[in-house]
Amino acid sequence: MRTLITGGTLVGPLGATPTDVLVDGETVAALLAPPSAASRPAVEADRIIDATGKYVIPGGVDVHTHMELPFGGTAASDTFATGSAAAAWGGTTTIVDFAVQRTGEVVEEGLAGWHAKAEGQCAIDYGFHMIMGGVDEAALKAMDSLVAHEGVTSFKLFMAYPGVFFSDDGQILRAMQRAADSGATIMMHAENGLAIDVLVAQALARGDTDPIHHGLTRPPALEGEATHRASVLAQVAGNPPLYFVHLSASEALGVVSGARAAGRNVFAETCPQYLYLSLEEHLGAPGFEGAKYVASPPLRTNTAPHADDLWRGLRTDDLAVVSTDHCPFCFAEQKELGRGDFSKIPNGIGTVEHRIDLIYQGVVAGKISLQRWVETCATTPARMFGLYPRKGVVAPGSDADIVVYDPAVTTTISAATHHMNLDHSAWEGFEIAGKVDTVLSRGSVVVSGGQFSGRAGHGRYVPRGLSQYLR
Ligand SMILES: [Zn+2]
Repeated sequence: MRTLITGGTLVGPLGATPTDVLVDGETVAALLAPPSAASRPAVEADRIIDATGKYVIPGGVDVHTHMELPFGGTAASDTFATGSAAAAWGGTTTIVDFAVQRTGEVVEEGLAGWHAKAEGQCAIDYGFHMIMGGVDEAALKAMDSLVAHEGVTSFKLFMAYPGVFFSDDGQILRAMQRAADSGATIMMHAENGLAIDVLVAQALARGDTDPIHHGLTRPPALEGEATHRASVLAQVAGNPPLYFVHLSASEALGVVSGARAAGRNVFAETCPQYLYLSLEEHLGAPGFEGAKYVASPPLRTNTAPHADDLWRGLRTDDLAVVSTDHCPFCFAEQKELGRGDFSKIPNGIGTVEHRIDLIYQGVVAGKISLQRWVETCATTPARMFGLYPRKGVVAPGSDADIVVYDPAVTTTISAATHHMNLDHSAWEGFEIAGKVDTVLSRGSVVVSGGQFSGRAGHGRYVPRGLSQYLR
């Protein structure tokens, strides 16, 4: 099966250029001069996709999702089937989800459990990072074996959530030393969880139980402090690649910028919620509405320039990646667990379907370039986590994961029309200039003309190599 995507503007490492794309089977066969070019050879194809007036971009790579994650006595509401289909609708063709080793559990068993959840369920390709809930001798050995044999090359540690996922500084140091030896990447949730737990208990004792107190008890200074501490520990451990997940605060960005300026292997991602939503307007919404916006780190105040700083970070590459931290919990029966006690609201926002659209709005607003949109949403995450050039670029030999994006259509996000298994949307009413038109996953059309034609089980597990950004 040969597919020709013709008439569009290809956006990639070379900029934005009128280019046709020939797909043969599951991979890109050739990039061709536009049909108007005299030098253009005759091309035969079984299927033609007309991309006139549209952008042709590599399928999105979302390296931070939590399908079916057990949390706070419930579980994230998207399965691998529903969440991967929603991702495809939104132009994302690869997810890297977090397999979990719970404290007291064997790492390999946690990974096997995640394979069992995802196998045969995904509409798009997927990989795994490993959450390390208990760094001990066996877990450290498992890190090496996952890198060597399982295609899992990144390990997430938590400075937050004492008693759940928390690692102390000694455990963090040991895992970092191991990563420095193997080349694996340490991913860090950087918030000072022990201090936060004190502030949470004090707030509840005062009777401050509304959702906004989730944000007020997790101040940006405690993200900045943890980011600094992790950066220092990594330096002492021999400078393994250190990647801060869901960076939300100017204080943390400053630490990352400083470490990068010093030539360190320090990287960071942010997420759409920190670019667009705020503590006052969303987490502080009247009544219990703010529960929809409870995530950690929390939405930040709009009285300080956190969001402006994050956009700047995306421009300067101090923030290399935009991921979603997709972790949806329904309002009914899930978010409602925390009525009268914000600390019992499951943490998470559902965004996997909207990342490409939301970051494109930064292009429309002149905050980032077209090329930066593609880099932060596809190319860099693929390189950062050992998927490039199979993923993250439209080039001969790459998987034909391709999105045709129509900048001329305007849409509005709503829970009534989204495809995530979620009874509300943190993005309700957001107007989007642009629309995902057609999506190919390994050469198969999975979304076209407002119809989904993908299927559970098309998506395959993708073993990953080491980060390609090592210094
Ligand atoms: Zn997360």
